[in-house]
Amino acid sequence: MTQHPDAPEDRLISQAQQQGDDSLRPSSLGDFIGQSSGLGNLSTFIKAAEMRGEAMDHALLHGPPGLGKTTLAQIIAHELKVGFRATSGPVISRAGDLAALLTNLQPRDVLFIDEIHRLNPAVEEVLYPAMEDFQLDLIIGEGPSARSIRIDLPPFTLVGATTRSGLLTTPLRDRFGIQMRMEFYTHAELETILMRLAGKLNMPLTIEGAHEIARRSRGTPRVAGRLLRRVRDIAMIDGVGEVGQKAADKALLSLDVDASGLDAMDRRYLRGMAEHYGGGPVGVETLAAVLAEQRDVLEEVIEPYLMQTGLIMRTPRGRCLSQAGWGYIGLTPPSGAQLDLINTVIEDPDRD
Ligand code: ADP
Repeated sequence: MTQHPDAPEDRLISQAQQQGDDSLRPSSLGDFIGQSSGLGNLSTFIKAAEMRGEAMDHALLHGPPGLGKTTLAQIIAHELKVGFRATSGPVISRAGDLAALLTNLQPRDVLFIDEIHRLNPAVEEVLYPAMEDFQLDLIIGEGPSARSIRIDLPPFTLVGATTRSGLLTTPLRDRFGIQMRMEFYTHAELETILMRLAGKLNMPLTIEGAHEIARRSRGTPRVAGRLLRRVRDIAMIDGVGEVGQKAADKALLSLDVDASGLDAMDRRYLRGMAEHYGGGPVGVETLAAVLAEQRDVLEEVIEPYLMQTGLIMRTPRGRCLSQAGWGYIGLTPPSGAQLDLINTVIEDPDRD
């Protein structure tokens, strides 16, 4: 659900929320594939909270869009056997909106705030005592007649999701007792997710077909699901009964998703950097202007995967194309291009 509103809608491998996702989401921890390092601890915290009959500690899930943050938040509520309410940072514009949400919670409910790094600072101030002491401090009225009131809240669990944990203020981040970083999925994990999804969609998919889609899904379940649906459409129109490696490959190529899972937009990004800036370093604002894209879209949607695959690097002086990046677009780097991490101080790795 963390798609940036400005991300191009027609981008096939964009991580935009897919209509009708909800019924196909895994609903329990046992169904949730991947993220094994964080999931073990999370399951312990859920069980402990359940045994004590208390609200679980607040949890922050961070990582690129489409990796399952919303899904996991729903699963937490399901496993805790409590209610689930979802909202998003930019939607809560006034302290009163937050107050309305919080006072309507039942004890131990999960409140999910997507894109929590976009909360208005005035709302964030109200959230601190609510998270820490389950109390709301509100100012009623204006001017000399203004007065402050304190409302007790039921104990609740706030699950925050963010694609940019580096943009969270320290006081807010520190109030999350549980913090989990979502990682890109392995091909094997995506294969399992795809086989299960194909089963739910009644789509005949072979393991080789699933493998082909998995390795072109940018390590992201949402992208995998979207590609699967498009491959299903193409295979159906082509009259392919069972989707194997060949049918999947053909469909993905016709969708302009190449063998590494990159699409036209990724290639434009890499070429832009090579052709206009000799492979960098180039600032993200400049790149955004040249590519006519929003800076946030580059930072949240395009760059995380290009960085993960080692095609680009982020340095304090800007983005650089790596040796692999030059190789990918089939160009030779000019002499003097900054190609490796030597002499390069990487930015705070947490700033995703
Ligand atoms: P985020 O909130 O991180 O953007 P979502 O939770 O909305 O991502 O997940 C995007 C899509 O991917 C959903 O359709 C969800 O069903 C699917 N998905 C995410 N993680 C998993 C997983 N571990 N197993 C199966 N499907 C998943």
